Amino acid sequence: MKTIGLIGGMSWESTAEYYRLLNELTRQRLGGLHSAKCVLYSVDFAEIERLQAEARWDEAGDILAEAAKALEAAGAELLLLCTNTMHKVADRVGSAVGVPLLHLADTTAEAVRDQGVHRVGLLGTAFTMEQDFYRGRLASHGLDVLVPKAAGRETVHRVIYEELCLGVVKEESRDAYRAVIDELVAAGAEGIVLGCTEIELLIRPQDSPVPVFPTTRLHAEAAVSRALTAP
Ligand code: GLU
Repeated sequence: MKTIGLIGGMSWESTAEYYRLLNELTRQRLGGLHSAKCVLYSVDFAEIERLQAEARWDEAGDILAEAAKALEAAGAELLLLCTNTMHKVADRVGSAVGVPLLHLADTTAEAVRDQGVHRVGLLGTAFTMEQDFYRGRLASHGLDVLVPKAAGRETVHRVIYEELCLGVVKEESRDAYRAVIDELVAAGAEGIVLGCTEIELLIRPQDSPVPVFPTTRLHAEAAVSRALTAP
């Protein structure tokens, strides 16, 4: 079994999910008392969020690259960057180490294609929904990517930072997300990518008329498969 390195804390609410899923999935695969070999480097999200808001992405990338190096030195053999948004600096992080970084958009796109879905609606932070680093990566796998209109994007973004990253799950926000999902489905989405690692704390399969793709779970599943596959 390979040791998985987690660059987490963005936010820790979803990193806790990663930890639980890695262990549950390893136990499902191997049985008994088996659990995942992993190392976690958890950042102070307030520092990262401030750099995001000030568009100081290179500095944020350097912090995460240092975390990646520390995980490699601690024995990690593959790395997960536990946030969709910070994949904006995935190249900077991945090129700092000699071990592979499992890109969240790649693991997501593979799961979408495995289900025969071609056109997806994307929910995430404004950075993820509006910039090309994530949409373009999904599109490079042959997917058509739709995003909500401006008002929907604003709601989805605000709920992530003001509620979900603080561990707050509100029924009224679930309703607001459902309305955004319905809008995307009406526009032709055949599946919904929950492209922020906290959204699956709020949105469940029954909240959508089309399949949802929970990126935290899909990332954890891909990591466990990789960790248990030789070499
Ligand atoms: N966890 C979120 C994501 O997957 C947002 C937090 C962040 O900005 O990193 O995008």
